[in-house]
Amino acid sequence: MRANPSDYELVAPGSLAAVVSLLAQEPGVWLPIAGGTDLMVLYASGRLAACRLVSLWNLPELRQIEVAGDELRIGAACPYTDLRENEIVCLEFPLLAKAASWTGGIANQNRGTLGGNIVNASPAADSLPALLVYEAELILISRRGERRIRYVDFHTSYKKTILAPDELIRTICLPRRYAGYISYSRKVGARNAQAIAKVCVAALGQSENGVVNDIRIAAGSVAPVPLRLRETERVLRGKVIDSALVSQAKRIVASEISPIDDIRSTAAYRTAVLKNLVGEFLLELDAGGRRA
Ligand SMILES: Cc1cc2nc3c(=O)[nH]c(=O)nc-3n(C[C@H](O)[C@H](O)[C@H](O)COP(=O)(O)OP(=O)(O)OC[C@H]3O[C@@H](n4cnc5c(N)ncnc54)[C@H](O)[C@@H]3O)c2cc1C
Repeated sequence: MRANPSDYELVAPGSLAAVVSLLAQEPGVWLPIAGGTDLMVLYASGRLAACRLVSLWNLPELRQIEVAGDELRIGAACPYTDLRENEIVCLEFPLLAKAASWTGGIANQNRGTLGGNIVNASPAADSLPALLVYEAELILISRRGERRIRYVDFHTSYKKTILAPDELIRTICLPRRYAGYISYSRKVGARNAQAIAKVCVAALGQSENGVVNDIRIAAGSVAPVPLRLRETERVLRGKVIDSALVSQAKRIVASEISPIDDIRSTAAYRTAVLKNLVGEFLLELDAGGRRA
């Protein structure tokens, strides 16, 4: 059933301080809306429970991408188009730039925001594995002040997060320490744009003469939350990449994930694909380390 517009109220207070103050006055009553690309789908299908929306769109405090010391700070309401066109994001955080270019079509990238992707908390979201491997941190803001948390701690279970009802994500912080790393990402779906991933993966690594010095692998659509494959990483670190190690890594990948059967794919297919993607990444990491 379609929603009735007259049941809804949308306000745009125009500054971050005013939005934060409104959320504090009536916690849980006002729902933030940034680009609206997730919320408007719910609205259009009559499934948007919240009737009072407060806009984050075009608040300058939430739209900047800026260098602060040894990190890049991305405003939570920064749309994908700004991300994939930003020089530092493209050069230093290519996994995020690529995920931004995969998120829907151009219209969606002009409206959809990184903060919205995080809070919507889909385990299939494209940008979230990249945030896990870059070890992003989030600055959350409310009238009580700011708190800084590790992104990896944000999702507690399927579609559940630690965000309080009066809180916003203000900034996504990325440490600038990945020069020289090999980056790898794949989205496996009906197609790259305009399709939800059956499996997506983002990985980073450094190797020398075939030995893995550092490695980070994260995947989407294989667990209730976007998942960092810590055990696989642990087994790979310090080892020489050969066919035995690749086979071992694939076995551990399968033991770390808990994919489901749904309308887009099956658990068996998701497992097989992720194992193959990790294998492909290890071969690229090995080749890249020998070229360097
Ligand atoms: C046609 C189409 C294609 C799409 N394709 C993809 C795709 O390929 N990959 C993918 O990952 N996603 C895709 N999406 C989903 C969507 O575009 C993304 O999740 C997007 O990042 C959501 O951002 P938004 O600003 O539009 O969020 P909104 O819809 O505005 O909000 C989403 C949620 O986040 C909350 N929120 C937003 N910003 C903040 C903040 N700063 N602090 C606290 N809460 C906040 C809102 O309250 C709401 O709960 C697609 C959507 C559509 C309609």
